[in-house]
Order: sequence, then C-alpha cells, then structure tokens
Amino acid sequence: MNDPSERKTFPLPLSSVTGGVRKPGTPAPVATPQTATRNAAHAIGGAPLPKAAQPGPKLPGYAMPAAPSAPAAQRSDLMATEAIRRAMVARVAGQGVRDHVVLAALEAVPRHLFIEPALSGQAYIDASLPIGHNQTISQPYIVARMIEAMREGKGSLGRVLEIGTGCGYQAAVLAQLAGDVYSIERIKPLHELAKANLRPLRLSNLRLHYGDGMLGLAQVAPFDGIILAAAGMEVPRALLEQLAIGARLVAPIGGQVQHLQRITRTAKSAWASETLEACHFVPLRPGIA
Ligand code: SAH
Repeated sequence: MNDPSERKTFPLPLSSVTGGVRKPGTPAPVATPQTATRNAAHAIGGAPLPKAAQPGPKLPGYAMPAAPSAPAAQRSDLMATEAIRRAMVARVAGQGVRDHVVLAALEAVPRHLFIEPALSGQAYIDASLPIGHNQTISQPYIVARMIEAMREGKGSLGRVLEIGTGCGYQAAVLAQLAGDVYSIERIKPLHELAKANLRPLRLSNLRLHYGDGMLGLAQVAPFDGIILAAAGMEVPRALLEQLAIGARLVAPIGGQVQHLQRITRTAKSAWASETLEACHFVPLRPGIA
C-alpha cells in the first residue's frame, strides 16, 4: 500500500485509477455485497472481539440497553443487538481492519437504526443493503476499511468530509472519531432520511448538506480527510483542492470494475495516489435530485 512505486503525481493516467495495483502477497478482499454476505454467513455466532478493540466513545444521547424499567423481552432484544454488533466488529477485524479507533467507532453506532424495519434483521451482516432511490447502505467492512485508510498514520482527525450521506450510517461512524464531520447528499429524500435517522443520536459534531458533493464544501475547506461513498471514473478536482496538505482522500474509482484509491496531498500542487483493493459502489453522479 505504501509502495513508493505506486505513487504518482496528478494528473493521473486512467490506468492508474482502474489498474488494480496490489502488492504481491497482500490479501485481496473483493468487497462485493455477495462476498460479504458469504463472509457474514461464516461468522454467525461471532468470534470474540479482539482485546484491543475496546468499546469506543459512547454516543451522546444514545440510550444504552437494559434500562431496568424496560420490559424483559425488549431488554434482551437490545442486548442481543449489542452482542451482534460486537460480533460484526470482530468479523471486520478478522477481514483485516486493524485500527482500533475505527473498530471502536463501528461498535458504537447502532447500524439497525439506519435500515428500514423490513430489513433490520440483516442490519449486522456484512453486506450493503437497499435504502431506496436505487442506493445502498455500505457494508460495514468497507466503511471501516476506508476510514482506516484515511486515518493511517494520523493520531486524530479534525475536519472530515463525506460525499454521499445516503442513510447516514458512515457519517455517524465518522462522527465518533473526527472533530467535525460534514456529509453531502444529492438526493433530497435521502438527505431527509439521514437527518431523521441521525436525530436520535444527537451528534453535535455532524452536519448534513444537501447538494452536489462533487463540488465539495469550499466554505469549510480545507479538510483533514475526505471519503467518497460513490464511484466516479476520477476524483473531482474540487475535492483534491479542498484537501489540507498531508491529508488523505479515499474514493472508489471505476465503473463495472472499481478499486479504492487513496490520494494524499503532498504539497500545494502535488498529490500522490495509491490503489488499494477492489470494491463495489453505486455511481457518483453530478448535480442534485
Ligand atoms: N454513506 C452511505 C452510503 C451511501 S450510498 C452509508 O453510510 O451507507 C452513496 C450515496 O452517494 C447515495 O446516496 C448517492 O445518492 C450519493 N451520491 C452520488 N453522487 C453524489 C454527489 N455528487 N453528491 C452527493 N452525494 C452523491
């Protein structure tokens, strides 16, 4: 991943964003929903959470289960959710995510709150799921992997931008580990859905914007990290310009075949790029809907 031979300065040739460069010997998890579902099926019951992945920051306002007054059935339901979430995090760790801060953030966010009731039974399998308007909630593994790639080598993150709020899940995870999170969604009903999903979590460091994320948020830039949750053929120039020097942007790049791309702004007019693993995202689209 850090192989200097993979580094390039912009503008990038197309081959560099679709080529799928990977160091020999590194695991090649293909993060398609199908593979992920199979992975999840292996781990039913769940391995214990790695010792280092201690519970992370607690969500302000998120009522933890087992309030003594809750009916017994409801109480055990909530506790089961927590245990299942822990198992999900253990699975993500087993797939190679090592960053304990990211694992703790994943464990802190109740993913079932972001999924429509008919599908909430599948909330903790490692798969993307439909959220309406032909869009999906990203699979937990890829959410964790992208944030890990953005954070690598950084103690903490100040201001972070997400493009593609969708139902708001990744934004909630980011809000656990960054100082301030901004997330942009281009489909109005999804922007509204995310607002509704996130309201009970009362994350005061998270701001949702309705608009075209390809333009970024110039008024708030520079960002200490940017994540795209939708795949384009290249990274929009505006987003590269809104990265702080030393900061990283992680994005899926490609059409039918996609790979995660990590771009580091190394100087005012220099960016270095690395190609990470294969992935599968909905397309990045211009304008608003
Ligand atoms: N972050 C979500 C995943 C959302 S799916 C999660 O936590 O699961 C990707 C989202 O990107 C979709 O909702 C899609 O509408 C949105 N999107 C695509 N192009 C966009 C653009 N130019 N600006 C903002 N959002 C965009």
